[in-house]
Amino acid sequence: MKEKEFDQFEEFDESEGFEVVAPECVPVTETEAFEYLDNHVPLELKREAVQMTGKEFASDQHFGLGMWIRNNWIYGVDSDDPDVKQRYRQCRDMLAGGKAEDELMMFNADMASSDFLERYHDHLMSFAAFDAPVISVRRKPVKCRHCGGKVAPVLYGEPSPEMMEAADRGEVVLGGCCISADGPDYQCPVCGQRYAKDR
Ligand SMILES: [Zn+2]
Repeated sequence: MKEKEFDQFEEFDESEGFEVVAPECVPVTETEAFEYLDNHVPLELKREAVQMTGKEFASDQHFGLGMWIRNNWIYGVDSDDPDVKQRYRQCRDMLAGGKAEDELMMFNADMASSDFLERYHDHLMSFAAFDAPVISVRRKPVKCRHCGGKVAPVLYGEPSPEMMEAADRGEVVLGGCCISADGPDYQCPVCGQRYAKDR
């Protein structure tokens, strides 16, 4: 999957301005799909997700992440290329939980995306470290000890547009407006694990 195609992910909560992800970036295995979402779903949304049940998350995100998945991974682009068609077919099957289309009677995009959202929620719950204790470190860890994600510095204060863009790319984590002396210095943008420098 190509990294540069992922920018569109910020269009999550609104339906306007959706751009379709290139077919070669469409995941065909659940592992690929989870990895994509781990790296591109905003931390804030993950934090909200783990406060909900899987069903609540799927219904809350029906028009958000669910619609993004339907637009990008199910409807995608119209192409006659057999490789492209095959990729979308594999992705649809994965989203529907591996059930063949005839088993589901007819493939239902709403049902498949919501089934997948519940599975993604399980995945988030399995590694969520949003409330885990802060880990004390000498210096910024390169990789998260919890999930292996790329750890980023936490920036405090009113975020500038540049900071928000950097946060979208996972290069920094926004720590909010309150500058507190004991807030974390680093955070994993994937699972939320916090790190504080030994003082
Ligand atoms: Zn992590």
